[in-house]
Amino acid sequence: MSLHRRAFLTAAAVAALRPWRVDAAGWRAGVATVDITPKTSLWMAGFAARTQPAQGTAQPLHAKALAIEDARGRRLVVVTLDLLGVTGAMAARIGTAVRARYQVPRERLLLASSHTHSGPVVDTQLLVAYDVTPRQIADIEAYTAWLEGQIVDVVGAALKALAPATLHAGETTTGFGANRRVQYTPEGPVDHRVPLLRVDVGGTPRAILFSYACHNTTLQASNVEWHGDYAGVAQAAIEAAQPGVTALFMTGCGADINPKPRGTVADVEQHGRALAKAVTGAMGSLPPITGDTRAALEFVELPFEKALSPDEWKQRFGLADPYVARHAQLMDTMRARDGKLPASQPIPLQVWRFGRAITLVALGGEVVVDYALRLRREHPDDHVWPVGYANDVFGYVPSRRVLQEGGYEGGGALLYYGRPGPFDATVEDRIFEALERLLRQTR
Ligand SMILES: [Zn+2]
Repeated sequence: MSLHRRAFLTAAAVAALRPWRVDAAGWRAGVATVDITPKTSLWMAGFAARTQPAQGTAQPLHAKALAIEDARGRRLVVVTLDLLGVTGAMAARIGTAVRARYQVPRERLLLASSHTHSGPVVDTQLLVAYDVTPRQIADIEAYTAWLEGQIVDVVGAALKALAPATLHAGETTTGFGANRRVQYTPEGPVDHRVPLLRVDVGGTPRAILFSYACHNTTLQASNVEWHGDYAGVAQAAIEAAQPGVTALFMTGCGADINPKPRGTVADVEQHGRALAKAVTGAMGSLPPITGDTRAALEFVELPFEKALSPDEWKQRFGLADPYVARHAQLMDTMRARDGKLPASQPIPLQVWRFGRAITLVALGGEVVVDYALRLRREHPDDHVWPVGYANDVFGYVPSRRVLQEGGYEGGGALLYYGRPGPFDATVEDRIFEALERLLRQTR
C-alpha cells in the first residue's frame, strides 16, 4: 500500500514539475502551411474599381491547416486562407476530396478566409465586378484547380503531423474596426473581441488560431500587389515574435465593419501589429481546455425577395453600368442554362464544440456583426466564437435591421455576386432557427 502510495506521489510530483506532461485531455494536434501566392499575374479579388491584374507580391499568401483530434479519436480540421473567400462549389470539391483521402467528414472540415481584398479572384466569384477577358478567366480557372489541390494537400500534412498536444482558449480585444454604414448609424455596432485557441505540442506553443470581425480592406483598389492586408501582417508578426508558432486567422462577422483609418501601407502595418500585439500579449496566459469535440453542418435556404430588373438595381441601390449590364447578361445566361433563376441561396452553417470551453459558430457569406452580437447575447454560457466567410462566400448576409435599412450590405452587393436579387425579410429568422437546432444537436 505504502509503496504504491509513494509511487503515486512521485508521479504526481513529476507531473507538477513538468506541467506539459499533463495530457489527461488526450488531445493531439498538427499544423501545416503552404504558400498559395499565384505564380502568374491574375485579376485581384474584391474591388470593382481595379483596372489591371496583380503587378507583383508585397506579401506572400498562405493556406494553413490546423488538425485537432480529441481523446476519442474524432478529428477537426480548420483551414485558414489569405483569400477573399472560397465558393460553395470549391468547398464541395475540397470537402469530397478530404473525406475520400483522409476520412474527415464534411462537418469536421472548416474552410475560413481572411477576406483580403489583395488576393486573387477564384472560381466564378464576383465575376460581375471585374472587367476580365476570356483568357484571364481561363487563368483564374487554372489557379483555382491548383489551389484546391494545395488545400487538400495541406490538410493531409496537418493530419500527418498529429502529435500529443494541449489546447488553451480565451479571448482578448483590439479596437481598429469601425462600423462602415455611417450613413445609417454614425456609431454603428462593432465586435472588438479576438477569440483565441492556442495549441501546444511537447510543451511548446505550435499554433494560435484567432479571429477579428473586420474587413481586410485597409489596402484599397490602388494596391495591385498580393498582400494579406492587416490579417497577413498580424500572422507574420506573431510568427516572427513566437518562432515555431503558426498563426491562423479567421474573419469574424465583420461584413459591415472596416479598418479605421485605411488606405496606406502604414495603416495596414499599424492594424496588423495592433492585432498581433493583442494576440501575443494574451496567448501566454490562456487556461487549458478539456472535453470531446462535436460538429454539425447544415445548409439552409435563404430566399431572394425577387429577381430585380436592371432598372430596379439602379433605382433601389444606386448601381450603374457596366455592372448592371454585366449582371443582366449573366442572368440571361443562367435562364438559358437552367430555365429559371434560383429562388434561394443555400448558406452553410457549422457548429463545433470543444467540450464546454468553445462553441465555434461558422457562417457562410459576408455576415454582418448583428449575428455575432445576438449569438453571444442569447447564448452567454456557450462561449460562442462567431466566424463569418466560412465554407462559401456567396454574398452579404444582412440582419433584419440591415436589410430594412438597405444599401450595399442590405442587398446591393448581391448584384456583384451574380445573385438575382436581395434577400427577403426572413433570412435572420431562418438562420437563427437553424443555429438553435445545431447548438441543441451538439450539446
Ligand atoms: Zn466584403
